[in-house]
Amino acid sequence: AAKQQGKDGISFFDPHIQTAVTQGLQLEQELRQALEEDQFALFYQPQVDLKQQQIIGYEALIRWQHPEKGLQAPLSFIPVAEECGLIVPIGYWVIEQACRAIKHREEQGLESRFIAVNLSPEQFKDPQLINRIRDILSRIEINPTLLEIEITESSLIEDVEQAVEVLYHIRRLGLTISIDDFGTGYSSLAQLKQLPVDRLKIDRSFIIGLASDPDDQMIVEAVVAMAHKLGLKVVAEGIETEQQLAVLVSCQCDIGQGFLFGRPEPESLHSVESLREQHSIESVKEQGFVVQ
Ligand code: C2E
Ligand code: MG
Ligand code: MG
Ligand code: MG
Repeated sequence: AAKQQGKDGISFFDPHIQTAVTQGLQLEQELRQALEEDQFALFYQPQVDLKQQQIIGYEALIRWQHPEKGLQAPLSFIPVAEECGLIVPIGYWVIEQACRAIKHREEQGLESRFIAVNLSPEQFKDPQLINRIRDILSRIEINPTLLEIEITESSLIEDVEQAVEVLYHIRRLGLTISIDDFGTGYSSLAQLKQLPVDRLKIDRSFIIGLASDPDDQMIVEAVVAMAHKLGLKVVAEGIETEQQLAVLVSCQCDIGQGFLFGRPEPESLHSVESLREQHSIESVKEQGFVVQ
């Protein structure tokens, strides 16, 4: 059989590429079905006020209960969903679920806590974004400041002017805005100053070495100082050890998130068994979480 070659010498019929394309298409098909059949779930990971030593909110992290493969982590399907555009409807499902969870807490008479959702760059570029969020908020009435939008630094850099405009619209709806994975995207301080942002989430890569690498400690200290001067709160993600926590507390970091406080869990564990949350905080305290 004739093997057709592209200009760059890559065969159009390379069996590996063929397989990858077929798998991508199959995944896309399965994702469509997942939306229709409600196979997605949000898991919630607590965020802790480091001064008050209290859970003040959650990050909502998507999971896919695949009928054959079981629970799937976002990295196994979000990139494909972004490529084929399905991230846009999936993203609205996420925002709606988060609003329902906020409402649910309110109806149960639990104290209000914010929920942060991740917004991918594709969603950020969707011209319907603001209308859709407004529509969700009109159907599910919540205090909009309790809904937090996390956007990565990199999605802001592509087109700063457009990003600033979208962020202002989001801000006008009353939502809280946070920059995710901060420190990995080379955004300048000048850009940051223009943005209507409430929080910076320092990327986990800077937290990992916090107890051992003086450079990481310096970076975190500088980020916190700068953020505070700009009137922003700082969230540290990926806190796993007491040592990391101690450094963050000494750097005046405002909010913490990580396995040390709790893993992402289904909503039922948070709202019904709220005792559990107390436990995770209590156990942190018992292990010597003291604020100087
Ligand atoms: P992210 O927004 O930076 O979320 C934090 C990730 O770090 C989560 O992974 C979380 O489980 C993990 N993590 C939290 N604490 C620790 C820790 O102490 N140690 C370690 N090793 N990991 C920790 P997850 O749930 O697998 O999500 C991965 C990424 O997928 C997220 O990174 C986010 O970019 C994306 N993602 C998750 N849910 C959604 C969604 O609903 N929409 C979109 N567009 N992206 C999402
Ligand atoms: Mg995030
Ligand atoms: Mg993050
Ligand atoms: Mg991250």
